[in-house]
Amino acid sequence: MQIPVNQHRLREVYGRVGQLLRQCRVRGCLVCGEPVDEAGEGGLDSLCAVCAQVLPWNRHACPACAQPLPMEEAGRACGACQRCPPPLASCHATFAYRWPMDRLLPGAKFHGDLAASRVLGEWMAAALWRHLPTVPWPEAIVPLPLHRARLRRRGYDQALELARPLARRLRLPLRHDLLLRTRDTVPQSRLDGPARRLNLRNAFEVRGGVGLPRHVVLVDDVMTTGTTLHAAANALRRSGIERVDAWVCARVP
Ligand SMILES: [Zn+2]
Ligand SMILES: [Zn+2]
Repeated sequence: MQIPVNQHRLREVYGRVGQLLRQCRVRGCLVCGEPVDEAGEGGLDSLCAVCAQVLPWNRHACPACAQPLPMEEAGRACGACQRCPPPLASCHATFAYRWPMDRLLPGAKFHGDLAASRVLGEWMAAALWRHLPTVPWPEAIVPLPLHRARLRRRGYDQALELARPLARRLRLPLRHDLLLRTRDTVPQSRLDGPARRLNLRNAFEVRGGVGLPRHVVLVDDVMTTGTTLHAAANALRRSGIERVDAWVCARVP
């Protein structure tokens, strides 16, 4: 007798077991997998010394859009931000989206790797700790939300998983109740400039009836053109929040 098997359900269960195994595994270096014998440089204890040397820190960038700039131009708004100031008061990207970030971030996102996201969030916190005295301190952290349908499909919200260690380290309230994604939009990576803006029209909504801070910071994993962050910032500002900044893990140069 043949037992009917629900293939979809089976894949779901195997996916979940694999995810748990990955989370429990004692890992070596997050990038190359080599054993890490002691705390890495600058407290980066999830990296071997070799990989710690090559992390693409985004040290010189436009303060408004985090676009990497030559050292002598850093600290001033780039040409694009001067011509058209973004709705974000400031934007900080911890890394440039180059190797190994272009492997670590999608890996963490599509395999639900909580341990990797936690480490990436800790690195962001360490970089922000150095950077924060130069910008006003926000009152709350708001992770860029996924639409419910996408969250159900993926089972994992990378912006929220990066925001958790950030909120803990920087002792800021995590307000994932504030902003809603009300439309399940096409992934921005498949669209060009004007289509990106159109795609995001009315995509975000600020939840009514919750106390609003005056100054929040949006957190996301990867920033490409910033269109998504700008749409979210506009929604927050329309609701009465005075200042919105953004912190992202990596900026696509
Ligand atoms: Zn390594
Ligand atoms: Zn800029």
